[in-house]
Amino acid sequence: MAPMQLTVIGCSGSFPGPDSPASCYLLEAEGFRLVIDMGNGSLGVLQRHAELFGVDAVCLSHLHADHCMDLSSYWVARQYAPDGPRPPIPVYGPVATADRIAGLSGEKADSIRARFDVRNLSRTQEIGPFRVTTERMNHPVETFGFRVEHAGWTVAYSADTGPTDALVNLAQDADLLLSEASFQNNDNNPPDLHLTARQAGEHATRAGAAQLVLTHLVPWYDRDRSLAQAAETYCGPLSAATSGLVLGPGAGR
Ligand SMILES: [Zn+2]
Repeated sequence: MAPMQLTVIGCSGSFPGPDSPASCYLLEAEGFRLVIDMGNGSLGVLQRHAELFGVDAVCLSHLHADHCMDLSSYWVARQYAPDGPRPPIPVYGPVATADRIAGLSGEKADSIRARFDVRNLSRTQEIGPFRVTTERMNHPVETFGFRVEHAGWTVAYSADTGPTDALVNLAQDADLLLSEASFQNNDNNPPDLHLTARQAGEHATRAGAAQLVLTHLVPWYDRDRSLAQAAETYCGPLSAATSGLVLGPGAGR
């Protein structure tokens, strides 16, 4: 069985950076392509790694623009394809996903639903060959972290979150934790919004995650400093995401 491969499409936190779109990850296994989050700028870079109409399903962690904006662009592509509209694909997201994408697109929710089969995320769902489990994260809007399992390999993705035991549960014994690290050590960080890199390391250690990759890195912070702060609390393999980075047991195949 072909192993899972995860490609970081976008890892820039809160807004696109000079070297990366906002949040977007491509998971592939057994010929199935699942995209998690579609932040600003991601649809362009996604086409370097997948055919435009080769996406089989989408999951949105939450409805902040830097995680869902380009689903409105993808709606345009699927609606106005030169040989006719493309059939709907499943889009899993929070309540109000269709209305949110409609607002971003200047369309009605029914038009969005004609191209996207919008479904509410539940605790566990099978999406293609993947088992996707969710946990509610600590963020000001309804936000889901994801645990994706395939053929004995597990990746956990924090989405956006402040400190929470839910992330430890989500990442328990995972092969890889892809954790946001929006903040650096600073007494003035707002609460219940994002993690510092140090807190990302703490959560990874508590979960027993075998590898930690920092993501949602905000362009105004120095990446090496974030890595150094995460290394204060996490002793395992540690790196920072870049657009185009390939991870998972299928990496480099
Ligand atoms: Zn957010």
